[in-house]
Amino acid sequence: MKTSGQKKFLEPLLFEISKPGRAAFSLPENDCPAIDPGNIMPSNLIRDSVNDFPEVSENEIVRHFTRLSQLNYAIDTGFYPLGSCTMKYNPKVNEVVARLPAFTSTHPFQPVSQTQGNLQLLWELEQFLAEITGMARVTLQPAAGAHGELTGMMMIKAYHLDRGQNRHIVLVPDSAHGTNPATSTLCGYKVQVIPSNERGLIDFSALNQAMSEDVAAIMITNPNTLGLFETEIEQIAALVHQKGGLVYCDGANMNALLGISRPGDMGIDVLHLNLHKTFSTPHGGGGPGSGPVAVQKQLQPFLPVPVIDRDAQGCFFLSPGDERSIGKISTFLGNFAVAVKAYTYINSLGPAGLKKVSQIAVLNANYVRQTLKPTYHIPFDTLCKHECVFNDKLQQQYQVSTLDIAKRLIDYGFHPPTIYFPLIVKGALMIEPTETETPEMIDHFVATMKQISREAAEDPEMVRSAPFNAPLKRLDEVLAARKPKLRFNYEAGSSSAPGK
Ligand SMILES: *Cc1c(COP(=O)(O)O)cnc(C)c1O
Repeated sequence: MKTSGQKKFLEPLLFEISKPGRAAFSLPENDCPAIDPGNIMPSNLIRDSVNDFPEVSENEIVRHFTRLSQLNYAIDTGFYPLGSCTMKYNPKVNEVVARLPAFTSTHPFQPVSQTQGNLQLLWELEQFLAEITGMARVTLQPAAGAHGELTGMMMIKAYHLDRGQNRHIVLVPDSAHGTNPATSTLCGYKVQVIPSNERGLIDFSALNQAMSEDVAAIMITNPNTLGLFETEIEQIAALVHQKGGLVYCDGANMNALLGISRPGDMGIDVLHLNLHKTFSTPHGGGGPGSGPVAVQKQLQPFLPVPVIDRDAQGCFFLSPGDERSIGKISTFLGNFAVAVKAYTYINSLGPAGLKKVSQIAVLNANYVRQTLKPTYHIPFDTLCKHECVFNDKLQQQYQVSTLDIAKRLIDYGFHPPTIYFPLIVKGALMIEPTETETPEMIDHFVATMKQISREAAEDPEMVRSAPFNAPLKRLDEVLAARKPKLRFNYEAGSSSAPGK
């Protein structure tokens, strides 16, 4: 595969296109008196001039951004098997409903007498999610999964303090998503890691040893990040409860459980969901998302405020909540449009449809597991749930790594799977096909993965040099994350530009 010729040819004309005097439009001369900026803002915040500002024609700016948008890989353009992220197709009808003017034109400061419909939608979505998860009450306020975790852990902390207990440890399995230890630490807890056993599940005897009356909670993920169901979940919850601890469940990935089993029935006390994974909001660009938190009865008084409530006449109102509440965690009631999409999604599928989502998601993951198994090593080879985790053990004899395999997939038009996570699998390739792919697409993906394994044996140097068919090749990913170049003319810099 070669680099697309046309793009290469145009390359010199595509960047640093600014030329002095070019503009995308022209406005009539100002016929109003000029405003002295010193009158409307503090003078130390006013800059003398705008340096290094790109000057381009309309034609160039349209091409620039249209071209950049085409460089994005999206679920709307192809298969996106990014494990733990549930990059499934999001039905467009949900977008249409979220954009209805009656929703988009309401203002959060409008009196509740004018927003009864919106409050009803939020209230009903809370009920749906409580029913799906088997929990007592839900808040829709957190803006992301990690924000939901923080909200949940703050409630756990408030619960223990309310009982006069200053517990200081949170147990986190070694397969956990990185946000779990981060959240616990942010809440002032000491994280104690629980190892996984040879089956990829929580080591019960290690947990038994670690569990004490200093432990505030365990943060558990089920199915875990290997895509495996924690079969001893009830015993785990019982053990933690016995010592007065609580069980937090990271429910970011609910795609395997919908309509099949409920965390609330497994002994979970608090759980967050990611509406932008399981409940049909596109994600990957940094938002907007939504990370509702569901709790059991004993944690209800600690829910963030305001709480949506209903009076005797059936009218909705915003209750100030219990005095033990953790307070406000969001400016208003959460990302409303994301809630509208989840509400539409759940209503359009219904209970039977939701169950089918999970059945097909699990079927597809197991199909990938079975068909790729002879070609790629699978460290924990048992029935999986929504995703399966391989590694590069069989390709290492050719010095071809997980990163090389992922880069080579780009040449074939696929978004790579999640790589090098979970950390407990060396060289992990974490594949989540989701329920929205056709059998033909999954077969094509499997065939491509097998092709790459053949290439690894026959021409390892080529695989190590991939991708060939991408606008950029191998980036310094650490530098790209730590020192991103987000500004025009970054190198030249400008002393007058704020925020440098
Ligand atoms: C995605 C994910 C999170 C974090 O969700 P954000 O919305 O990205 O903050 C937490 N835990 C697990 C298991 C996840 O997959």
